[in-house]
Amino acid sequence: MADPRGFLTTGREEWPRRPVRERVRDWDEAPVPGALLPIVRGQAGRCMDCGVPFCHAACPLGNLIPDFNCLVARDDWRAASERLHATNNFPEFTGRLCPAPCEAACVLAIDRPAVTIKNVEAAVADRAWEEGFVPPRPPDRLSGRSVAVIGSGPAGLAAAQQLTRAGHTVAVYERDDRIGGLLRYGIPAFKLEKHHLDRRLGQMLAEGTAFRPSTAVGRDLDAARLRARFDAVVVATGATTRRELDVPGRELDGIHQAMEYLPLANRVREGDLETSPLSAAGRHVVIVGGGDTGADCLGTAVREGAASVTQLDIRPRPGAERDEDAEPWPTYPQVYRVSAAHEEARDLGRAPAADVDARLFAASTLRFDGDAHGRVRALRLAEADAARRPLRGTGRTLPADLVLLALGFSGPDPHDGVIDGLGLRMDPRGTIARAPDFSTGVPGVYAAGDAARGASLVVWAIAEGRAVAAAVDHHLTGSTRLHTPIGPYDR
Ligand code: FAD
Repeated sequence: MADPRGFLTTGREEWPRRPVRERVRDWDEAPVPGALLPIVRGQAGRCMDCGVPFCHAACPLGNLIPDFNCLVARDDWRAASERLHATNNFPEFTGRLCPAPCEAACVLAIDRPAVTIKNVEAAVADRAWEEGFVPPRPPDRLSGRSVAVIGSGPAGLAAAQQLTRAGHTVAVYERDDRIGGLLRYGIPAFKLEKHHLDRRLGQMLAEGTAFRPSTAVGRDLDAARLRARFDAVVVATGATTRRELDVPGRELDGIHQAMEYLPLANRVREGDLETSPLSAAGRHVVIVGGGDTGADCLGTAVREGAASVTQLDIRPRPGAERDEDAEPWPTYPQVYRVSAAHEEARDLGRAPAADVDARLFAASTLRFDGDAHGRVRALRLAEADAARRPLRGTGRTLPADLVLLALGFSGPDPHDGVIDGLGLRMDPRGTIARAPDFSTGVPGVYAAGDAARGASLVVWAIAEGRAVAAAVDHHLTGSTRLHTPIGPYDR
């Protein structure tokens, strides 16, 4: 412990966000650049270095949190970076995106605010890049074995980096025109600026990982032939099957899935489009779904200049009756979070219909009403009871000319050419069936990330990528020295 009294003398201070009116004029990340470094050593010094570090146990990656906190407090950034990268391939992503189950588990949180572990992680990762602590680490020798990774989200990328570093020849196949999965086209730049992703991809290229964008396996490339060309295949195709809202009027124009809307906004940022064909500019936007995908739609709609925007959450208002049957994602921590996007819509007065923080809670959508041209004009809702059934006499109507459905994802597309082409089985949850060692039952074919786990978190995708890499390495060589936090080869 660098400072035995740190948690007594220093209060929790988070990386400050830029003023709302400033940040909604651009798409850059919300925190103030450069404002973390001056406070982060004191924050890391609040860590009590507990004998049993619950933060470490709560992190899906098994990050060595007290170790890097202590090293940051002592100003030893190189060692902190080594300790962090020992368990996490991409801490600059999790340091920005993770809901931080580690902080919910921090022992300090019993009677005072937790250590800002996520901020410390982001600071270590950013400093590591600035100081050149993370050069490419190509393997000393090649194994002569090859692996195809299908899907370039965080699970596929973590698997590819681990397997490349173990000496295998790895190619990542991605159906989109750019690499990155949901990190690229799902998550908006105001949560993760894309230069973080591009920098990592540069490192991976220099280590020897090959990328094959614009290649949909099962459509552009026969999956069975791919399997025959490589010694092993990792399927990390994500959970792309979107949940639907089966209410009258769903067919009206102007009602879209969140993942139809968000990628277009991200493509404008990438310079592919002048404006988004689904832009929220001047429109009354209603987002159905209370999770982080919905919050990303909210932040995007505000930046596009929506006339009004409201996020509907079927769960009860925080502080009301406890929701025992919470949404599957985010699963943990079950705390009320006010994201930067909620803060923006609230402070700018763009959410006049909301209960609190741009959200309407216990909101059950009954139907959509349209105009003579078949365009959506309004959304009819009612208050939901504890069983999520609409209560009589509570109906109300919101103006809506752009509706975004953010109801979650069940699993990969079962009719995708990857599933059929490789002969994979689906489990009853709608995800790819696999054994505890991530093998699918088809020799040499493994599955990881949201495609097999179900829609989850970036931190879990990276953990799964590391675990599947260890399993594949073991399959190819008979043993593995790759670190993995989960699975039969964990160490
Ligand atoms: P993905 O990231 O989905 O990547 C799968 C890739 O496979 C995609 O690029 C897809 O194009 C590709 N693919 C699919 N089929 C084929 C094929 N046949 N051939 C080639 N390529 C194929 N998590 C957090 O922790 N924090 C957040 O703030 C957060 N925000 C989110 C916001 C949104 C809008 C969404 C949708 C999710 C968010 N998540 C967040 C969840 C997180 O992004 C996912 O859990 C994570 O990206 C899953 O990683 P993955 O590698 O399994 O899949």
